[in-house]
Amino acid sequence: EQEVNRTRNQLRLNVTGKNVPEPIALFDQLSVNTDLIENLSRAGYDEPTTVQKQAITVMLEGRQLLACAPTGSGKTAAFLVPVIHHLKGPQRKGFRAVIVCPTRELAKQTQRECVRLSFGRGFRIHIIHKKALTQYAPNSSQKFDILVTTPNRLCYLLKQEPPVISLANVEWLIIDEADKLFETGLNSFREQLEEILQACSNKNRKIGMFSATLTPSVGEWCKENMRDFIQIIVGQKNS
Ligand code: ADP
Ligand code: MG
Repeated sequence: EQEVNRTRNQLRLNVTGKNVPEPIALFDQLSVNTDLIENLSRAGYDEPTTVQKQAITVMLEGRQLLACAPTGSGKTAAFLVPVIHHLKGPQRKGFRAVIVCPTRELAKQTQRECVRLSFGRGFRIHIIHKKALTQYAPNSSQKFDILVTTPNRLCYLLKQEPPVISLANVEWLIIDEADKLFETGLNSFREQLEEILQACSNKNRKIGMFSATLTPSVGEWCKENMRDFIQIIVGQKNS
């Protein structure tokens, strides 16, 4: 335990929460299939970044997470690796993971990263295109596994009567760049997130929140809505 604390201090990795799993030093220490390790290496990722060292083990254990680390520190792979591991392969059960991003450009980049890190698994990774908003029907998304989207489009589809997209089988809800999302408009993202959460009606649904900075609204939301979560802050010493 002291040893682990020393490692975290050296990494400037501040963690809070119960029974936090140890950080890894190398990707091949992860208990995941070798194809995933190969995809990381093919992407040119030789060594995990600090946030990846800790966030991946936390989510692999199925724990909810708030991870704060600077822009450019590899947060995308930090959530994609455990999500890909948990979903295993395509199942035709509809969306089992949803990744909410603040901008369309970021959603596209995240989808591309998901495609390359899950290479060989055959997942169907979907982006909601504005032109296609009228083409959704209650069962049209059954063939997909992972959804990457901005919040407005998703909430538009959820608000149709009856809803034309189902999130009932979602196991992981990832909120990326949470600090940016929570600062859009007065409470508007809070309300959208409320709708999204209600649609993610699976009892075992877990939340992963990723942010560059720990803003008060992000921290408060997590305390109110995520039971027994682990918080990681990169760049701060461990207490
Ligand atoms: P963040 O979301 O924290 O801003 P990104 O996930 O966008 O960071 O990653 C920033 C850049 O670092 C990307 O170009 C990504 O491909 C690269 N990257 C991510 N993880 C690693 C790694 N382990 N080794 C090398 N490069 C990485
Ligand atoms: Mg990012």
